[in-house]
This record gives sequence, C-alpha cells and structure tokens, in this order.
Amino acid sequence: MKSILVTGGAGFIGSNLIKHLVFKYPDYNIVNLDLLTYAGNSENLKSVENERNYTFVHGDICDRELIERVFQHYYIHGVIHLAAESHVDNSISHPDIFIETNIKGTFTLLDVAYKYWMEKPFEYKKGFENNKFLHVSTDEVYGTLGATGLFTEETPYAPNSPYSASKASSDMLVRSYHHTYGMETVITNSSNNYGPKQHDEKLIPTVIRKALSGENIPVYGDGKNIRDWLYVLDHCKGIDIAYHKGKSGEVYNIGGKNEQNNNYIVAKICELLDQKVPKNGKSYKAQISYVEDRAGHDFRYAIDATKIETKLGWKAAENFDSGIEKTVQWYLKKYEF
Ligand code: NAD
Repeated sequence: MKSILVTGGAGFIGSNLIKHLVFKYPDYNIVNLDLLTYAGNSENLKSVENERNYTFVHGDICDRELIERVFQHYYIHGVIHLAAESHVDNSISHPDIFIETNIKGTFTLLDVAYKYWMEKPFEYKKGFENNKFLHVSTDEVYGTLGATGLFTEETPYAPNSPYSASKASSDMLVRSYHHTYGMETVITNSSNNYGPKQHDEKLIPTVIRKALSGENIPVYGDGKNIRDWLYVLDHCKGIDIAYHKGKSGEVYNIGGKNEQNNNYIVAKICELLDQKVPKNGKSYKAQISYVEDRAGHDFRYAIDATKIETKLGWKAAENFDSGIEKTVQWYLKKYEF
C-alpha cells in the first residue's frame, strides 16, 4: 500500500481533496498532516475518519523531527502539499506566520523528502523511484491583470501581497528542488476556489452568514474586483490528475473560466437566498454595504487553463451557476436554515 502525505488536509481544499482521494484510491494510505490552526477543522473529515486507508497526524510542517518521523513511519511515497496560511487579509495584518508556514514549512517538507527519497542529486533510492512532490499554489503569484489577458504558466511572477509573495517563494523552492536535485515535482496554480467547507472568514461564506443573520454584507471598495471562480471539487480533480499524470518539473494552471466581480457574486447569492429563505418580501440585497478597500487589492485574476485541459485532459465540470447553487445549499445546512 502506497502512503501519500497530504498536508493541510483539515482545511477547505485539503478536506475536499482527502475525501476524493480516500474513496477513489482504496489502495493508497492517505496520511493527513495538519496543525489544526484556526483554519483547520476535524469536522471537515467526518466522512473519512473511520476509513482504513486514512490516517490523521496532528503537527506542524515546520517541525523537521516530526516530518522525518512521519516519512519513516508511514513510508511516504508521495506528497501533496496544501498546508499554508491562506487568507490575504491576515497576511496584511500578521505577515510573519505566512513567511514561517508557507516558506519554511515548504522547505522543510521538500528537504525531508529529498533526504528520505534520494541518494544524491538526480538519483532516487531503490524503491523510491518516481516519488513525486505536488505543491498546491495560487494564481495570485502572477500579480494582477488589467481588463484583458489571462495568466498562463509563462506569466512572470509579480506577487503583490505578503500571502502571494510567500506562496511565490515556496513555488521557487519547489522549482529549485527539481532543477538542483532532480526531485520529481509538479506545481499547480489555481484560481479562487469556492464550495463546501470553506472557512467562515472568506468572501462567499461571509456573504451567506451575514445575509442570514440580518447584518450588513461587507463588500470591499466598489465591488468591481474580478476573480476566476473554481468549484473546489474541480480543483481537487485537477490536483489528482496533475499528481498522477503531470510531467515532472512542470507547472499547471487550474481555473474555472468563471470570471465574476464581487458585485455579481454577492447579488447572485442574495438572489438564491431570496428564493430559498425568503425574508418577508425584502431582498437580502438591501443588506449590501460597501467598506474600505483591502490595501493593495489586486484588480483582476483570470487563468488560462489550456495546458492542463489539453495535456492532461482535465476540464471543470461546474459552471458558476451550478456550483454556487450547491454551495449555498451546503451553507444553509451548516448555518441551520
Ligand atoms: P485553509 O486555510 O482552508 O486550510 C489550510 C490548512 O493548513 C488548515 O487545515 C490548517 O490547519 C493547515 N495548516 C496551517 N499551518 C500549518 C502548519 N504549520 N502545519 C500543518 N498544517 C498547517 O486553506 P485552503 O483554502 O484549503 O488552501 C489550501 C492550499 O491551496 C493553500 O496552500 C493555498 O495557498 C492554496 N490555494 C487556495 C485557494 C483558495 O481559493 N482557497 C486557491 C489557490 C490555491
């Protein structure tokens, strides 16, 4: 049985990914290493916790001794690395932890994998050949776009927030372990995800929660910032395919071709709530309230996913209308409406 180490599996994308992997690959032992920071939630893993091919390890990706023990004890054959500090707003108020977790944590994992899997540069140990390190990153490393254009894998890095700068740094470390040591690596850079199990702090859960509680629904600036929204399960399937079929040393952008600005997102959620939980003739849109913009707020992100579509055969199954319907339904249950 091959053991794959998934880091950050108690978070939003990680928990959706683990559910997908545990049931799709009964012959893999999925080892989830997560520190359970404020962003991690073991409730997210209820559906897999009793599966025989799932193991949880509580710990920090920066703790080298622990990572070494995990590699040895579980005989780790592959890594899918998601653990990170992930909220841009927090990176503006408290950047230090982003540097620690996203950069030093990624370095620690890479370096332990190198020492455990490889004899020397470009030579894997016997029994460890082709072990792969997949690093889950973000389109925010490319900076911001104007009204037109798309991020491709060739777009130069230009991160603008401490979050995206820390992710860009971690991508560079992964790149260096491929080029210097010959480690088999793949990097995926995905656009904004949405769907079940996202932390309350993020835009879509915040809109739903504030709407239902009758509070103001906060929208940054003029609400015209554009993101390319990707349903989380589509992202997980992209990670799966990139891990199994991706070419070593390559980067794959994953995006939903669903560019929407925040005004559209908030209005769409309010319309769905108006239908599903009507509020005595008044629309939830009346609660929308514009607040001071995020410092250094990137205007537009949009992904060209042609490479993963044509080379690996991935395609997003959800469009925004179908994905947001499922998402709102899930949060209505979570918030007991
Ligand atoms: P999240 O914040 O929901 O989850 C992060 C998880 O990492 C949590 O379970 C947390 O407990 C864990 N963690 C944090 N620090 C840790 C540490 N030091 N050691 C071990 N575990 C630790 O994040 P997410 O939205 O699921 O994002 C997962 C990954 O995907 C991140 O690397 C993020 O940069 C990337 N990404 C996210 C998006 C998005 O829209 N959410 C888009 C593109 C890429």
